[in-house]
Amino acid sequence: MKQIFLLTSLFMLFAACDSSQESKDAADQNELAKDSMDIKIQDPHSFSKPNEAVVRHLSWKAKVDFEKKIIIATADYTIENLSGTSEIIFDTKELSIDSVQVDGKTISLYALASEPDPILGTYLSIPIQENTKQVAISYKTSPSAEALQFLDPEQTTGKKSPFLFTQSQAIMARSWIPSQDSPGIRFTYDAEVSVPADMMAVMSAENPTERNATGVYNFKMDQAVPSYLVALAVGDLVYKEIGEETGVYAEPEVIEDAVFEFADMQDMVDTAEALYGPYRWGKYDVIVLPPSFPFGGMENPRLTFATPTIIAGDRSLTALIAHELAHSWSGNLVTNVNWEDIWLNEGFTVYFENRIMEEIYGKDYANMLAILSHKDLVEEVEDFMNTGRAADTRLKVDLKGRNPDDGLSSVPYDKGFYFLKLIEETVGREKWDAFLKQYFNEFAFQVMNTKTFLNYLDENLLADSSNWMSTIGVEEWVYGEGIPDNIPVPTSTKFEEVDNQLVLWRRGKKTTELNVKSWSTPQWLYFIRSLDDELNLSQMEQLDTAFDFTHSGNREIQAAWFTKVIPNNYIIADIEAENFLVLVGRRKFLTPIYKAYLKSEFGRERALEIYEKARPNYHSVSRETIDEVLNFES
Ligand SMILES: [Zn+2]
Repeated sequence: MKQIFLLTSLFMLFAACDSSQESKDAADQNELAKDSMDIKIQDPHSFSKPNEAVVRHLSWKAKVDFEKKIIIATADYTIENLSGTSEIIFDTKELSIDSVQVDGKTISLYALASEPDPILGTYLSIPIQENTKQVAISYKTSPSAEALQFLDPEQTTGKKSPFLFTQSQAIMARSWIPSQDSPGIRFTYDAEVSVPADMMAVMSAENPTERNATGVYNFKMDQAVPSYLVALAVGDLVYKEIGEETGVYAEPEVIEDAVFEFADMQDMVDTAEALYGPYRWGKYDVIVLPPSFPFGGMENPRLTFATPTIIAGDRSLTALIAHELAHSWSGNLVTNVNWEDIWLNEGFTVYFENRIMEEIYGKDYANMLAILSHKDLVEEVEDFMNTGRAADTRLKVDLKGRNPDDGLSSVPYDKGFYFLKLIEETVGREKWDAFLKQYFNEFAFQVMNTKTFLNYLDENLLADSSNWMSTIGVEEWVYGEGIPDNIPVPTSTKFEEVDNQLVLWRRGKKTTELNVKSWSTPQWLYFIRSLDDELNLSQMEQLDTAFDFTHSGNREIQAAWFTKVIPNNYIIADIEAENFLVLVGRRKFLTPIYKAYLKSEFGRERALEIYEKARPNYHSVSRETIDEVLNFES
């Protein structure tokens, strides 16, 4: 690949991706005390040196070209030269730079071909003066930009218009906006985005609720956010209000189902505020994306991006909305300083999500979700232990030289959740809730790292009793491998009911005679996951005849079922699994189902046959993971 560097007569740039340069950069990244309460902004995944010169505001002007599948844009930054340095550094990936202006003056560009770092991309060094206030970069994205997914009309529900969405987390913002692409660096932004006249654009900002005839949309984001929370979606979109401060964007064909499914959204916002203080972002809306969206949801501020696979028709999968909403506090408000501390974003969010679910749907329901999360954790930790990745079972992980995506396992989410749950149970809910509310308030719009959090926890909570620290075993939980013995796993009478029916079924009771009346989705998921790993054809047929898991309208149930029965060579599920894999791009489902194929007699060949069809529909995030699972070379 070819990459553009800037060279000017004032400043010479040397090999950006040379490892000695990288380690020097890391050493150079000292404190950015002004923004971060003395937390060092050290980020192994960004070239920028925010302690020297840092961005404060972005004015982004862009045109989306659906034919070429690129964005043509100017990123006009207000910057601050903190140390009197002679350069400001941006992260870029596969961007083609057309021109650069410094304080309104075009500077000369010399192209320099160099091998970019395959993970980090390339750094862009722009010469500045001590009093430089503004740097504007005009550029085009690449058709293969990692963050962007351009969909053809056939890949949408309406099949009339194309669609574009971005996914910036973790380090993909740099593939569509040259940025100081680290979660520790926040800036405000405004934008003017031009799209075809019959389409609507929305961002993680103040958004339009109606289309306009010109196709030009203006956005404003007055709260400072890190680059991974800058987001854009463009499509045949309509908006519908749910509550006073909540609403949904979706394709017209999906909007009514979405409004029905997310009816509890306003209630969730009110509940979250009652728990941990005010929601600070103005409106809270959700956009339902086409099914290729690689994640369940992305917590883009003011506008959660969500997969349509949570629309089950019975409001049973909306814990995901509670999760993304909770990020408005944990993550978006108090932000992990880099991706090695991601448990501070995700563990807190799973905890907060569970509390929202408990308030709205009851303790029993929240406990069921917690037990399922425990199952996920145990399975993944076991897998890591058996595959030489024991170090990745620590809450604080080491991601140097690796893609931060490697850190996205159930460890930061579920082990993080159980760590916080253990603290709650040790100190009592009242004290814990007061502490957490104070924490979100005190560190609002700031960064956090593991060490600072642990100090704060000790000083403001655990110091109240001499033995809490050791009862909990804080060090072991955060820095140790595996799952500590004192993990507080809840029990659920609802799951006991499922266990009882499973015992009866194993003893020969007919599937149709099992007492499954009024079972909820978590109970069905628990039922399927608790089935023996080895099932014979007659057992699978009986279950399917009675419950039709293969054709369930609930994607979670379908995915759990395929994962269970494909290793048992259940041919009836094979075609439906293929349809599922071709339509849905949500990685959480894809990975276990493709792995299930590898364990089956269908084999790798069948998995590859499906993947060849499905792969063009996947976002780069999912492609990268499944390429690896299947040893696929494109
Ligand atoms: Zn999350």
